[in-house]
Amino acid sequence: MTLHRFTLGRSVEGRRIEAHATDARCCEGLILGGVHGDEPKSVYVVRCLLAELKRIELPRRRPRAVTIVPVVNPDGLVRGTRRNARKVDLNRNFPTRDWSPGPVRRRNYGGPRPLSEPESRAVHRLVERIQPAWIVTVHSIDRQRFCNNYDGPGLSLAERFARSNGYPVTASIGYPTPGSFGTWAGRELGIAVLTLELPSHRSREQCWRENREALLSLITGSASTG
Ligand SMILES: [Zn+2]
Repeated sequence: MTLHRFTLGRSVEGRRIEAHATDARCCEGLILGGVHGDEPKSVYVVRCLLAELKRIELPRRRPRAVTIVPVVNPDGLVRGTRRNARKVDLNRNFPTRDWSPGPVRRRNYGGPRPLSEPESRAVHRLVERIQPAWIVTVHSIDRQRFCNNYDGPGLSLAERFARSNGYPVTASIGYPTPGSFGTWAGRELGIAVLTLELPSHRSREQCWRENREALLSLITGSASTG
C-alpha cells in the first residue's frame, strides 16, 4: 500500500512531526502515537502498523482513509520524558472548557495557555482540517491500568478493540485530565476517541501482537467504525 507522507509541523526544537495518509484527499480516521515521550511502546506499535501497511496490498478494495502520526512529541521521545522540550504535557494543552495549567513543576503541567505548544497546535490544526469520524491515540500506562479508554461517542470503537486485545473498556482513566486530547476531541467536538493505554510492563512486541489485528482492521476492514 502506498502511503502519502507529509509534515504536520515542527516541535519546539525544530524536529519534524510527520504524518502518513492512506488517502491523499480525504480522511475518516486518525491514529496518534508518542504524545508522551516516555511511552516509546506507543511509537513502536504505530510504527509497526505503518511498516505492515507498506507491505500489504489490497487487491480489490481501497484502504479506508486514515492519517497516522507516529510521534506527536519528538523532543520528548529523544529525551525519554513525558513532556515536551518546554516541560508541557501535550495531553493537557488542548483548549477544553475545563482547561487549567496546574502547578508548573507537575508532570502533567498544561502550559501557560491552551495550545501554547507547537506540537499540540499541529495536532489541533490537523483535526480541524480533516475532521475525522474517529481517533485512536496510543499511550502506555503502568500498574495494570491498561485499558481501552474512550471519550465522546467512542464506546463501540473501544469495544471493538477490547474484543481483540482483551483490555478493559473504561469511560474514565480514574483521575481528572483537564485539557486532555480526549476531552477536547471526544467530549467537546463529538469525535469517537479511543485512548489506547498499552500495558507498560509488557514487551513492545507483545503490545503490537495484542493490538495488531484491531489497528489493521481500521484501515483494511470493511465494517464501519462508530
Ligand atoms: Zn500517555
